[in-house]
Amino acid sequence: MLGKLAKELRMLGYDTLYYRGEDNDPLIQLAREEGRVILTRNNKLIPKRPEDPIIRIREDRPSLQLGELIQKRVISLNEKILFSRCLICNNLLNEIPRKEVEGKVPDFVFYQQREFFGCPQCLRIYWQGSHLENMQKKIDELWASTKPQASNHK
Ligand SMILES: [Zn+2]
Repeated sequence: MLGKLAKELRMLGYDTLYYRGEDNDPLIQLAREEGRVILTRNNKLIPKRPEDPIIRIREDRPSLQLGELIQKRVISLNEKILFSRCLICNNLLNEIPRKEVEGKVPDFVFYQQREFFGCPQCLRIYWQGSHLENMQKKIDELWASTKPQASNHK
């Protein structure tokens, strides 16, 4: 139910797994073992122990779920990890020498961009524009919305 949110979290650099199983026990077990937070819209997913970190997303519109997580301080925006992961596999991206991507990305992209990054698993190639087209505006808005105090104190 939260596929779009998962991609957006990866775009922000968060290590994000998407769980498709029906059974909740392995999910909770995995979260414990790997120190993960479970995000869900499912009301039936109940913590087994008080310390199990299960966070319910109230917002059903995908475009607003990321904002909800920021408001709840589950995540914050960290420029250092922004755009560091594959949106599909969750792997950390590696920088690829520019000459190696010639012919593998559209020509105009090759000539416009200086830096390219690749996913070691699915071999997708990313560049700043490929993320920015979709997300830069949204990130700017979220960024502004997380700093309301700074402007109110003038
Ligand atoms: Zn990938």
